[in-house]
Amino acid sequence: MRCPYCSCEETQVKDSRPTEENAAIRRRRVCPDCGGRFTTFERVQLRELVVVKRSGRKVPFDRDKLQKSVEVALRKRPIETERVDRMVSGIVRQLESSGETEVPSSTIGAFVMEGLRALDPVAYVRFASVYRDFREAADFQEVLGEIARDDELGDDGIGGVLSAAKKR
Ligand SMILES: [Zn+2]
Repeated sequence: MRCPYCSCEETQVKDSRPTEENAAIRRRRVCPDCGGRFTTFERVQLRELVVVKRSGRKVPFDRDKLQKSVEVALRKRPIETERVDRMVSGIVRQLESSGETEVPSSTIGAFVMEGLRALDPVAYVRFASVYRDFREAADFQEVLGEIARDDELGDDGIGGVLSAAKKR
């Protein structure tokens, strides 16, 4: 694995252990040239997926990109990394097992909404507001209504959602 800092071709594995309930292997690596440390994950990939964007453009599915957009929604929220990783893995597994090689980006967005809704209502609203591109207050009210109907509201409840939404 190439060093992401100095591009040295040979980095050493310092530690290797199962994570995400044995669904992945986490390796700590160190670069002998620059001393840079980084972590890699080994995961099962059942099939190669292609994402079809709204514009019709096709790009290879990238788990890291998906993870980043989820992390943006969860910024500063008290959710453990391990749970986020599991959620992202769950989404990837669902996409892979759908049997389709090409996946519309809207399908991925819908899976993320579903996952975030269970994980954290604040992150759910953040993601939904970007993903659904709220144009009217009514759209926003609708999503808040959906959350209010959920039993699991998390620690902050609807108040947390509203105050987080106001800060946007
Ligand atoms: Zn290096």
